[in-house]
Amino acid sequence: MLTWNSRVRIKAAVLLLVGLTASAFAKNPRQPRAPQAKAAAEKSKAAAPAGEKQPLSTRVVAYQIQAALDTREHKIKASETLTYKNLTGQPQQNFPFHLYLNAFQPQSTFMTEVRLYGTRGTGAESGWDPKHFGSITVTKLQVDGMGDLTNKMQFIQPDDHNTEDRTVFQAALPKPIPPGASVVFHMDFDDILPEVVERTGYKRDFYMVGQWFPKVGVWWKNQWNCHQFHATTEFFADFGTFDVNLIVPQSEIVGAGGDLVGSTNNPDGTKTLTFHSEDVHDFSWTASPHYTVVEDSWTGSTGTVKIHLLMSPGHMRSAPRYLHALKGTLAYYDQYVGPYPYDRITVVDPPHGALDAGGMEYPTLITAGTAWFMPRGLLAPEGVVEHEFGHQYWYAMVATNEFEEAWLDEGINSYLEVKVMDALYGKQTSILNFPFAQAGESQEQRTSYLSVPDFDPLTRFAWQFEGSNSYGGVTYGKTATVLLTLEKFLGEDKMREVMHQYFLRYRFTHPTGEDFLKTIQDVSGQDLHSYFDQAVSGTNILDYEIDDAHSDRVKWYEITRTGPKLYRTYVTVHRKGDFVFPVDVKITFDDKSSVLEHWDGRDRWIRYTYERPAQVASAEVDPDRKVWLDRNFFNNGRSIDGDDRAVHKLMNIWVFANEWISQLFAWIT
Ligand SMILES: [Zn+2]
Repeated sequence: MLTWNSRVRIKAAVLLLVGLTASAFAKNPRQPRAPQAKAAAEKSKAAAPAGEKQPLSTRVVAYQIQAALDTREHKIKASETLTYKNLTGQPQQNFPFHLYLNAFQPQSTFMTEVRLYGTRGTGAESGWDPKHFGSITVTKLQVDGMGDLTNKMQFIQPDDHNTEDRTVFQAALPKPIPPGASVVFHMDFDDILPEVVERTGYKRDFYMVGQWFPKVGVWWKNQWNCHQFHATTEFFADFGTFDVNLIVPQSEIVGAGGDLVGSTNNPDGTKTLTFHSEDVHDFSWTASPHYTVVEDSWTGSTGTVKIHLLMSPGHMRSAPRYLHALKGTLAYYDQYVGPYPYDRITVVDPPHGALDAGGMEYPTLITAGTAWFMPRGLLAPEGVVEHEFGHQYWYAMVATNEFEEAWLDEGINSYLEVKVMDALYGKQTSILNFPFAQAGESQEQRTSYLSVPDFDPLTRFAWQFEGSNSYGGVTYGKTATVLLTLEKFLGEDKMREVMHQYFLRYRFTHPTGEDFLKTIQDVSGQDLHSYFDQAVSGTNILDYEIDDAHSDRVKWYEITRTGPKLYRTYVTVHRKGDFVFPVDVKITFDDKSSVLEHWDGRDRWIRYTYERPAQVASAEVDPDRKVWLDRNFFNNGRSIDGDDRAVHKLMNIWVFANEWISQLFAWIT
């Protein structure tokens, strides 16, 4: 997820994504092969006794929730039993819980930041429609063996001490839970859903219910990790099981991040739907009487995945586009990264006016986004499905801490977005594919980074970025660009192996950025500390330019110009930015001969000198466009007779189009 601005940016980026015909993936020669993924999948299948399913994760939590939806008041009345297994290795007495829906209150930290960033309403007089407020109230807390602890609940604000923020509470137990023991919490709670805002809520009779129940924090790095809900933060939770009973009117069509294991009609016109899900860390659901359900399936290395597509009225034309992107993404990830172990994926298409519920990920359930007029050349529906499905690997399975290291989810996901979208829809056409305008995903990621190149490092805690634009441009765009540059440096096969190993080693374990960087070093066998220091934890800008390229006659003092002419050519390359990175330099002469130099970039400049019977025709830094981090491609080359203005002009049109489309989608959401 993102903040408003970044979400609009991603949505626009996503929205910039372009589609293609149904056979493209099958025909694409760039399809990756990763025999390791298949071998690993086979092995894990073989290890489990027939008929018995091994848990994929260390199951810390077991949630049982009973929830009744009131469609008149847009409220949910619910009770929750949480069994928490103390695997922290020490006694635990104080348990923090998230109450995410309380972010949608006027004085919350989330809202304060939203006003600061100007992402929802700007200016002193601009208001916020109260229909977008929402809340969650825990009315009762009991703990097995310890009685009623409702009055032991206390709101805490570990991040900013804003005492008006009620997105985290702590329950102090009268006695500690020993290591290895379990504690059972019983809670009653009431949700007031907002009209759709930040991916959650209702719009007319459509419901997208996410982050809607009290969720315990994570014991991580030897302390509780339970941050407040911020304008730029996402989520972090432990794995376990969910058993959820939803009571909704019988007319509702419901989709959820779980298997439907029971359905009972009640005498009062409602029905109770029972869902079960395991080895996940969240549960979300949607309801609407107007969905058209499209059932499909895809078979990969671990078996068949059922696809449930819930389409809103007027959007059916986008259904094949969603399915094509989803199946293509499933196949790419299966081969490039590793197996998708769940047997289902639900895609929710929000109705007209509820696009704000789109573009979000939950375990085994994602929300997409389209419009009845969506042209084929604008690959928004494809891009959003690819992006949100990608999160199943990073957010849902690897499950890094999105509050503190958002780049490991959104950033790695954005890098894979480039890979998948380019493979499915073409490098130059994976965002826009019109006869009059085309654009590719990697360019979009780079452009988004370059709009905010030096405010924040990737490693900043998500709520501590300079603003939501910097959060979006750096977390998504810069990470993708950093990894694309690394891919060119290491080679695509090596990078594929990095991603594959990282996923296999760390799925279901909450790894850290260090784990990711260590994997890159291990797999590549290279010392990349200097690159990581600058690209990951630094804000240095990378920019190389050809400062000078000219030729001079060696015997310039000879007045009679007879015989073969010998020239001395000088090419000066300048490292304009502080980012040091090795680059190639290609010098071409007017007799078509050329020289390829390799500069380590450590000094501030270097001069190459040649003597040959030809003059320099052009000089170019990074002629193969490997260094995507380079801020300015225009100064990379110097052509002695050429005219670079056309290139400048084209680039400006692209930047303008990008901005324009971002704005367009900001208006219509
Ligand atoms: Zn995302």
